[in-house]
Order: sequence, then structure tokens, then C-alpha cells
Amino acid sequence: MTVIRTIREAWRSRPTIEGAGVHLNRAFGNQESPRLDPFLLLDDFRSDDPSKYLPGFPWHPHRGIETITYVLQGDVEHGDSMGNRGDIAAGDVQWMTAGSGIVHQEMPKGDAQGSMGGFQLWANLPSSHKMMDPRYREVKRGEIPEVSMESGAKVKVVCGRVNNVQGPVRDIVTDPEYLDVVVPKGARFAHPVKRGHTVFAYVIEGSACFDQGGDPYSRETLVHYGDGDAVSIAAEKAPVRFLLVSGKPIGEPVAWYGPIVMNTAEEIRIAFDEYRKGSFIRHR
Ligand code: FE
Repeated sequence: MTVIRTIREAWRSRPTIEGAGVHLNRAFGNQESPRLDPFLLLDDFRSDDPSKYLPGFPWHPHRGIETITYVLQGDVEHGDSMGNRGDIAAGDVQWMTAGSGIVHQEMPKGDAQGSMGGFQLWANLPSSHKMMDPRYREVKRGEIPEVSMESGAKVKVVCGRVNNVQGPVRDIVTDPEYLDVVVPKGARFAHPVKRGHTVFAYVIEGSACFDQGGDPYSRETLVHYGDGDAVSIAAEKAPVRFLLVSGKPIGEPVAWYGPIVMNTAEEIRIAFDEYRKGSFIRHR
């Protein structure tokens, strides 16, 4: 029997200041992350005020995680210790596996109207992959397939599969799915998910009922599902756009300090020690 997942908990993202002074909304972080394993953090950096995002995220290290940046509006200029340089433009995704270590900077630039928008998700790596070679996947807007469902829903498939259309990001350790879903008013979106995987939705705009008979949730709400085989979202009173993300829990101890997430406090100490001494980067 197919079990439709019900909502376990839901909350609003909260204002936070990160990097060199970027005002953003954090959907979840350190505090909530044990419940969202393998995901660690989701930041919503939409803003119409350049003074709130231009300070950016100057050079900083990452180890032990993957960061997934999805830009809706404006550009994020980036550069890293592997020699990559470029812009993540509106509609593009950058899937970065920090692995053993990367030092990079991420500088939001905004569009001609001064608007900036997008999301950064952190996915944890299991101990077996924390020290893997770092890698980058730059996915341009045009490479992300959009599936039109019979119900009228439209789904951009960054990672995972919808109606036999596979997204361009593959072979990720925690078997994640990352979808950008638009459901018109009056329509429903149903989607199978794997039993035992962590599943959450984050409302970009509009509102919808994320389980049967529940209250509608609107912009900047994180909806965390209980277990089951599928989700069903009804846009009863308004259209809705949301991210739908799932992944396989890792189930290991988490030692987290700033941009570095390992399994033990000793591994964190070593990482910062190496960063100070200049031996942090193993792979160029
Ligand atoms: Fe970063």
C-alpha cells in the first residue's frame, strides 16, 4: 500500500547574518539539522536591498560537505582554490562537493533592478566520502529539464527523476532529489519518494496544503515530512512554487564548526590547524 506522507513539523525561516554581513533567511541550520539528516542547512538569500547582500561570502574553507547553490535572480560571482572562476546566473545551479577541502568565495551581485535571489543547501557527506577529491558541477539554466505534468504542475528537475526525465546532477552519495515545482491554483502535485529518506519542501512563493486536510503554508515556510512513499501537494486557494528535496540519511555523528562538518571534534581541530598552516588544500 502506498503511504502518502504527512507533515511532521513546519516552521518559518528566520533572519540571520552570514559571511561578511549578508542578511538572509535561514530555513534550517545547526539546531534543526539532526532531524533533517543528510541535510545540514538551507539559506534563502532573496533580497531587494543590495546593502544586504553585496558584502558577500569572501574567501572561506569547506570540508566534509556538499553545497548546492540555486540562483533565481541576479548573479553569484565565485572563485575557488581549484582555479575555477565564473558566475552562477539566474536559473543556474552549482553543486560543489568540498570533500577534503576547497577554499572559495561567493559574491552575490544582484540584477539590473538590484534584486538578488536564490538558495544554498548544505548536504553532509558520510565518513567514507568526507575526504574525497573536491568536484564541481556547473549546471546552466538550459540544462535543467522542465517537466509539464498532466495536472498543470511544472517541475524543474535539478537532481532526481520525474516522469522518467532525469536531472543533470547525478552520482551523489546521499541519493538526493532536488526539484523546483510550480503548481497552478486548483491543481495537485503528487510525487513518489523513497521510504526512509528525509523529505522537505520549502515554499518559494504562494501557498498550498502539503498534506491532506492540513493548513496551507506560505512563503518562507519549511515543511518536514514524516515517512512514507509519496507526497501530495494541493494548491487549493492560490498557485504555489516550492523546492522539494529528499535524501538518504547518513546516521553518523556530526561535528560542525562554521563551514567545516566532520564526524569528530578532533577532525575539526585538524582541519582548522591545517587551514592556519596552509596545508588544508589536498587537491588543486
Ligand atoms: Fe561557501
